[in-house]
Amino acid sequence: MKEIRMVDLQGQYEKIKPEVDKTIQEVIESTAFINGPAVKEFQQSLESYLGVKHVIPCGNGTDALQVSMMALGLQPGDEVITVSFTFVATVEVISLLKLTPVLVDVEPDTFNISLEAIEKAITPKTKAIVPVHLFGQCADMEPLMELAKKHNLYVIEDACQAIGADYKFSDGSSKKAGAIGHIGCTSFFPSKNLGAYGDGGAIFTNDDELAKKMRSVVNHGMTVRYYHDDIGVNSRLDAIQAAVLNIKLKHLDEYADARRKAAMFYDSAFAGHPKLQIPAKATNSTHVFHQYTLVTNNTDRDGLLKHLQDKGIPCAIYYPVPMHMQKAYHDPRYSEGDFPVTEDLSKKVISLPMHTELDEEQLKFITDAVLEYVHSH
Ligand SMILES: *Cc1c(COP(=O)(O)O)cnc(C)c1O
Repeated sequence: MKEIRMVDLQGQYEKIKPEVDKTIQEVIESTAFINGPAVKEFQQSLESYLGVKHVIPCGNGTDALQVSMMALGLQPGDEVITVSFTFVATVEVISLLKLTPVLVDVEPDTFNISLEAIEKAITPKTKAIVPVHLFGQCADMEPLMELAKKHNLYVIEDACQAIGADYKFSDGSSKKAGAIGHIGCTSFFPSKNLGAYGDGGAIFTNDDELAKKMRSVVNHGMTVRYYHDDIGVNSRLDAIQAAVLNIKLKHLDEYADARRKAAMFYDSAFAGHPKLQIPAKATNSTHVFHQYTLVTNNTDRDGLLKHLQDKGIPCAIYYPVPMHMQKAYHDPRYSEGDFPVTEDLSKKVISLPMHTELDEEQLKFITDAVLEYVHSH
């Protein structure tokens, strides 16, 4: 059996090696390393894939979130509602900009932001909501957008884990994750579903004015060279990454299918098990399985983690400590017990190997190992 990895970038690379090597070589020979034609080409391919008017490439997913909030003109003290159950970047940028993160709980089945919780958290100071499409499926965006509209709030989607997922509206139309809110953000960190060979990120919007502002912010707040209209940052997608991404984008749907196939194998092995809750499918979103995350019940989650690791099966806990319980984000408004679903999940979730290269032999070995442990613990 091939060595099992949490993410197998090597196996994936082998299959596209000739194309990737050629395109990297071309960028090197062109020496257009920054904002060259490769970046523009990728930007346009991604715009048409997502069905959005504007894609603004940037340095990483964290910058994408930060630039969005800067471009919206959010001011210190403005409240931004997001989840406590997420990767730190979502909350980090809010705090960094001296905005006030207002944390809310998630749904126990989909792990995505609770609409009810958002509604309770809205105050006159609220300016934006940042739903995180956790593990690869969209938060329930239709009612969320209605709620935002009613209260005149911006919506910035953190689609770093969900690029390619489709959200279906009640009228039968659908949109891609990140293409629904006022702004969408994604990351091309190598292990993400559309991963570069280094760092990268992008921001999406259909709003011309916002797009203009964001293009300026990522480039030191300048539209005309050496004239700075906004305080900006330096956040660029480099041309080598863009060229690699342009090739991988063509395979993105096929990659999602491979992930779904692995998820189906896991599901059929674990479905109905009293100690294992398989990932719930959101009613209105497809799932691109950035992670395959089980909720364990009445078993020793950390013991299971160790058992799998001892057998050479890498696995991980996303996320072991909710944001309101992190030292850096300590806030007297919050304490342990405030977000029961989030806290419960942080103690019970476990993510299994998930990537495009898993074969049946590996999947069988993994599911057998999980079942073996939960039967006896
Ligand atoms: C990866 C990720 C980010 C940050 O992306 P980087 O490219 O690593 O900066 C933000 N939010 C979520 C939910 C993520 O998974």
